[in-house]
Amino acid sequence: MPDSRSQRSTKPTVVVGTGNPHKVREISALLGDLAAAIHDAGVLAGAPDVDETGATFEENARLKAVAFARAAAGARSAGGALHGTPDPIWVVSDDSGLCVEALDGRPGVHSARYAATSAGENADSAANNRKLLRELERVPDGARSARFVCAVAVASVPAGPLEAPRVLLTVRGECRGRIERTPRGKGGFGYDPLFVPEGSRHTFAELPPREKNTISHRGRALQALRAEVEELLGVAGRDQ
Ligand code: IMP
Repeated sequence: MPDSRSQRSTKPTVVVGTGNPHKVREISALLGDLAAAIHDAGVLAGAPDVDETGATFEENARLKAVAFARAAAGARSAGGALHGTPDPIWVVSDDSGLCVEALDGRPGVHSARYAATSAGENADSAANNRKLLRELERVPDGARSARFVCAVAVASVPAGPLEAPRVLLTVRGECRGRIERTPRGKGGFGYDPLFVPEGSRHTFAELPPREKNTISHRGRALQALRAEVEELLGVAGRDQ
């Protein structure tokens, strides 16, 4: 749901607040025609290292969007790549993870660091997948439900580094499925080789990227984002 709304007539410049090039591509593909320009975090004089301390995906997405918007405000007033860019400038950030029913929703917001051995560090995907299979070893086939969740937040970049960024909207996408007993497939990333989405016999890692993106949590969140951005801009169905 939008956190605040206003009618605008100008296309925003968008900075994708993430270090992940896959996310930059996906967000650019979906919002390209609604934005004046889309940049990756390379336009910032150093991307912020955000502590994902939120209890929900939405909180973490907002933490990331606000931190990147602060950095963008700094870059804007420091004569860097965003210098002279007119308002509005928006940052789009996401946070995602896997929630397993038999584990009471774990690893959830801790998905990236599920099997980490030291605090504050992410674990590699193979270690995360091994830990997941271990924890689900005694869970029967009929009780291995899980869902991927993705929250996306949009924050506006203020004119200078002393002003606070404002969160404009937050959206969520989910994809339900189940956890396999052995990894299958070579595509995707993270938990994809263990996750079979509802209505499919294939894991996310076995599906072509286009097919995964159509039904995935991130794809669905980005579809919801597009609808919200169109409404925020007051341009639904119109070419500006
Ligand atoms: P983040 O959103 O970049 O913080 O990613 C959280 C973690 O959730 C990733 O490191 C993956 O382990 C997992 N994850 C999120 N989305 C996916 C997905 O589409 N496939 C597989 N794993 C995912």
